[in-house]
Amino acid sequence: MEETGGQAGRNPIEPVKMTLESKFRFSCNKGLECFKSCCGKITVFLTPYDVLRIKTRLGISSAEFLALYTRIVDLKKTKLPFFLLNMTEDGKCPFIGEEGCSIYADRPLVCRYYPIGLGVLKGSEVEGGDFYFPIKEPFCKGFDEEREWTVHQWREAQEIDRYDFINKDWFDIVLNKKLRAADVDPDEKSQRLYMLGSFDVDSFRSFVFESRFLELYDVDDATIGMIREDDVEMLRFAHKWLKGVLFGEYTYPRKVA
Ligand code: SF4
Ligand code: SF4
Repeated sequence: MEETGGQAGRNPIEPVKMTLESKFRFSCNKGLECFKSCCGKITVFLTPYDVLRIKTRLGISSAEFLALYTRIVDLKKTKLPFFLLNMTEDGKCPFIGEEGCSIYADRPLVCRYYPIGLGVLKGSEVEGGDFYFPIKEPFCKGFDEEREWTVHQWREAQEIDRYDFINKDWFDIVLNKKLRAADVDPDEKSQRLYMLGSFDVDSFRSFVFESRFLELYDVDDATIGMIREDDVEMLRFAHKWLKGVLFGEYTYPRKVA
């Protein structure tokens, strides 16, 4: 999580490059005086799988979740919009409760990584990221605890590999080198399709099965069977399809010109 409040004016990002084998000491638990103090005034970017997990947990549609809990932000670097989790009026995460995170098992990827940051080297298309760095907020007592981790162990404990696997094609899209070319600028229609396929799996399913989509694209029967019921498969399908829309990299070619 990235601190955006006025905490002591100190940059919490330590200038240290970590690898998967780097070690750090950390433990977060209810007994610490700082408990819950990090879940406010923060910037939480949402990945597509974050939206899927949270909307499923809340028992609402992806469109409802996005409307109720998020806002859109445009990042010039990627030329594609993202969703950020809205904080409440008093600056808290809407999911923080008396006992801590009320959606803990389905918390966003950014919250899973904390207190480790993920760095992606310019020009690379992600395979689990390139390097890591510690984020040491001055108020966070977790670093004073005894429990030692390697970054690899931390990722494993936080279920990060699964998130990376499901988000992989989406990360390939938002980090695609072609988006940095001056002459590549996704038009309004491509951006709309990107938002739909990236974050709104319920509406994307309607788009696939209730429009002429399957008449236009060559999708095999096994894939159609998987995406009909399974949200994760539908999300991964959508991201592969978006690579065709945005970059002409078609996994499912058009049947007609
Ligand atoms: S130890 Fe750090 S991460 Fe855990 S509650 Fe305290 S401030 Fe937050
Ligand atoms: S989603 Fe959970 S872990 Fe993440 S900021 Fe909100 S309360 Fe904290």
